[in-house]
Amino acid sequence: MENSLRFIPKMDDFLEDVEIMRFKAQLSSKVTANILRVEIENLRALIKNGEVAVADKASAFEHVKARAVNRIENKISDRLKRVINATGIIIHTNLGRAPLYDKTAVKTSEIVAGYNNLEYSVVDGKRRNRMVYVEDLLKDITGAEAAVVVNNNAAAIYLALNSLCKDKEVIVSRGELVEIGDSFRISEIIEESGCIVREVGTTNKTKSSDYEKSINSNTAALLKVHRSNFKIIGFTGEVTPPELVEIKSQACSGSLAVIEDMGSGVLADFSKYGFKSERTVQDAVNDGIDVITFSGDKLLGGPQAGIIVGKKEYIDRMKKNQMYRCLRVDKICLIALENTLWQYLSDDFLNIPVINAILESKIQIEIKAHMLNKMLEGISDIKTHVAPHNAMIGGGALPGEVLDSYAVFVAHQNKSAAELEIYLRNQEIPIISTIQNDEIILDMRTVNEGDFDYIKKVFTQLY
Ligand SMILES: *Cc1c(COP(=O)(O)O)cnc(C)c1O
Repeated sequence: MENSLRFIPKMDDFLEDVEIMRFKAQLSSKVTANILRVEIENLRALIKNGEVAVADKASAFEHVKARAVNRIENKISDRLKRVINATGIIIHTNLGRAPLYDKTAVKTSEIVAGYNNLEYSVVDGKRRNRMVYVEDLLKDITGAEAAVVVNNNAAAIYLALNSLCKDKEVIVSRGELVEIGDSFRISEIIEESGCIVREVGTTNKTKSSDYEKSINSNTAALLKVHRSNFKIIGFTGEVTPPELVEIKSQACSGSLAVIEDMGSGVLADFSKYGFKSERTVQDAVNDGIDVITFSGDKLLGGPQAGIIVGKKEYIDRMKKNQMYRCLRVDKICLIALENTLWQYLSDDFLNIPVINAILESKIQIEIKAHMLNKMLEGISDIKTHVAPHNAMIGGGALPGEVLDSYAVFVAHQNKSAAELEIYLRNQEIPIISTIQNDEIILDMRTVNEGDFDYIKKVFTQLY
């Protein structure tokens, strides 16, 4: 061991090494030095533990260098980047939820690359509140009296409750106390916002009378939460949002608000386009809901944001809350959201990727699948075929909503599907696929034709 320790290289030994130095333009010498230091220490520990013996200085040097180069390469390539989503899950929580419409992305990057009129009116040359642009659009689209936007829907719920119900009771059905992912729970958000959770009903059934019985002088709100990521089937019953408005109007308690967390926030009537009808934000406004919250990056198809629309008196209280300043959105988000909302003023919203993916017909997807399949045919060692597959809306949008789709199934002669999946995932533009029966599945509902050439290239380079 003592022998081996003598051979451990020093930092300076690497400073002239061409293989290490070739990363100079991408990685600062400080970061490179840190990586080398860690690998030098790792070698020291390995030798001390008797796990590695090195015969000479050169092999110790090579040992450290190989590991350092590997780490540097990983660091340089494992960055935030675009991926190809071949899972068929349209709103994929791990893959950035809603992709932005390319038109919106281009426009947003143009605006943020320079100065902009975020808080300035070019009409009268005075300061202007940054929220007016999107607030006007949200009023136009939904018919609500007022609107405000914060970081995400969780923040929206928090701001609404903290502004309207602090130290008071919020009544919510036991069947709607959902966990939304990453151990984020509605009940805990209500508590964090300074409100008292008043659970009513049971997991599978809640009746109007459950709410009515629980209303007292300390009740501030009736909260309806969309059960985004699960479905209750069988012996069930829930109180609808219009029924909550009715309960409110019958209650003696004066300042009761009906709050609806819609989760996804559908702005377009899908039934017009051959998809089943979904409750829209406009429906909630028409039902007389006081405060409605939803995400910007689920079915709306915009950037991450929490949108609150509703009655002006309530929204005004939220805007005056000191917490609003902490939760407000940044300019990049506001610009992307403003652009996305503009698309809803015309049929252009149909080109928003999530909307387009949901409304794309089965036959169109089948054609796409055969097109890719044809392109992959003849690549050595792989066997492909087209078959029906179930795509999903996903992302806590519409629970259990399965969409008919088609996929290209790929098997390799001497690689397992698991190996193939890793290979696809480790490309410059990673291709994220799923596995079934030792085949790779590329669901065509979430893949664009524009990516077919690249996918073909990746399979061609497979060795
Ligand atoms: C997704 C979701 C949330 C959380 O929204 P974020 O934008 O992720 O903060 C809250 N409530 C419901 C019902 C949801 O579906």
